[in-house]
Amino acid sequence: MKLAIFGGMFDPPHFGHLTLAERTLSILKADRMLFVPAASHPMKSEVGHSNAQDRFAMTSLAVKDHPLFSVSDIEINRPGVSYTVDTLEEIRKQYNPETIFLCIGADNAASFHKWHRPERIVELCNIVVWKRSSDLVITSLFTDQMIMLDTPLIDVSSTQIRQLVHSGKSIEGLVPDAVREYIVEHSLYR
Ligand code: ATP
Repeated sequence: MKLAIFGGMFDPPHFGHLTLAERTLSILKADRMLFVPAASHPMKSEVGHSNAQDRFAMTSLAVKDHPLFSVSDIEINRPGVSYTVDTLEEIRKQYNPETIFLCIGADNAASFHKWHRPERIVELCNIVVWKRSSDLVITSLFTDQMIMLDTPLIDVSSTQIRQLVHSGKSIEGLVPDAVREYIVEHSLYR
């Protein structure tokens, strides 16, 4: 199995994430996309944001009808700071994939050499960088080991959705209906 990994806050997950994941799977010819919601920052104020359990629940709802998408609670259930390298080791044990593609945005790729144990990360997976034509050239010590995918920006962000909900506006068409219903039922982003 060729497994692609998509880490993010997913606060909330939206059609931008889903479209990006679909395109990435088809370009890479990978078998499955695993969404990995990140743990909440222990020191950061949660005002205006939702907690890890709600983000996990919404991500599960967002992917539920897609046969090639699934969600992992690996980072939100791990105590303390989560390092990508530990997530990859754990995923390798759990899923035993033939190949792992770790998908990251171009902004994160530029500072990849500063991550915890980057040399081990590139042993464990292929790094796929979502690069938009407008992005600056990435300079990282590991650029040679990265696969660059030119992906268009879909015009939606979680920040925009949180703001719309906060001001009582509609988010129809920006997130799957089940996610929209969850946000209403749990009074998120109010
Ligand atoms: P926020 O607005 O809260 O910063 P976000 O919408 O960027 O959130 P994240 O959960 O941070 O969502 O997304 C993880 C990664 O998904 C981003 O780093 C980016 O690479 C990619 N991504 C998110 N939204 C889009 C989009 N609309 N089009 C293309 N890529 C996206």
